[in-house]
Amino acid sequence: MGRMMADCRRWPSDINCSLTIIGEEDEVVEAASQHAVSAHGHEDTPELREQTRGFLEPAEQYRPEGREKEPMPG
Ligand SMILES: [Zn+2]
Repeated sequence: MGRMMADCRRWPSDINCSLTIIGEEDEVVEAASQHAVSAHGHEDTPELREQTRGFLEPAEQYRPEGREKEPMPG
């Protein structure tokens, strides 16, 4: 299995976050969940981790120039 990406640039946020996390799936879920808690004020719950896992994209989709924002689902 290839590396995965969690890209904060994908979502609107009040801090206009530019962080992109790339690594093995479990590493990215862990790091992105901690980031969501520390930087975006989410609660660290199993649901947060499930949602984070659902947002992962293949790392090959990384584009350095940025991307269009998408509405946050749910
Ligand atoms: Zn962020």
